[in-house]
Amino acid sequence: MQNHYPPTLKKLIEALSELPGIGEKSASRLSLFLLSRPGLCEILGDLIKELPYRVKLCKYCRNLSEEEICGICQDETREKEKICIVENPVNLLHIEKTGIYRGYYYVLHYLLSPKEGFGPRELGLENFLKLIVERKIKEVILALSPTLSGEATSSYIAELLKAYPVTVSKLACGIPMGMEIQFADPLTLKKAFQGREVLKGG
Ligand SMILES: [Zn+2]
Repeated sequence: MQNHYPPTLKKLIEALSELPGIGEKSASRLSLFLLSRPGLCEILGDLIKELPYRVKLCKYCRNLSEEEICGICQDETREKEKICIVENPVNLLHIEKTGIYRGYYYVLHYLLSPKEGFGPRELGLENFLKLIVERKIKEVILALSPTLSGEATSSYIAELLKAYPVTVSKLACGIPMGMEIQFADPLTLKKAFQGREVLKGG
């Protein structure tokens, strides 16, 4: 049936099908809906076009930001000696919402996963190690999900940090094995922060 659609509509369906979780059926439905909402098409079109040019990674923590340095890194009221390592901006936001943590962050964007071809280089830890020295960081909190890749990444970073005079701790209790941080409820996450397990003293 799709073959009978006009070329532009067909191309849109193909493009939308590339999005995660969107099959051809949903893509067709979304495309036909968009066709009925020209105003929304304009807004979405502009935003999508600008997105990769406007939203970048903060030069310090690699969180998403429209400025060179993100709002969190610019915030001088934060606890300067703590840095929390998270997998992605979604988890960062999730932790921020609990209000339990007031230090800085470092966003990995990847976890070690040889199967997917993500090795130590993808983690981009050179900048992180530089930050530890420059900001005189005293505690590194590993807040990665307790999944296989999360655990492997935490161990790798803890090993790297042996050469630095920092306390390394890891969110431990409460978050069930295999669960992604972003799905942990705020109370569990708060408890996990409070009861974090020290892997190595400073
Ligand atoms: Zn930042």
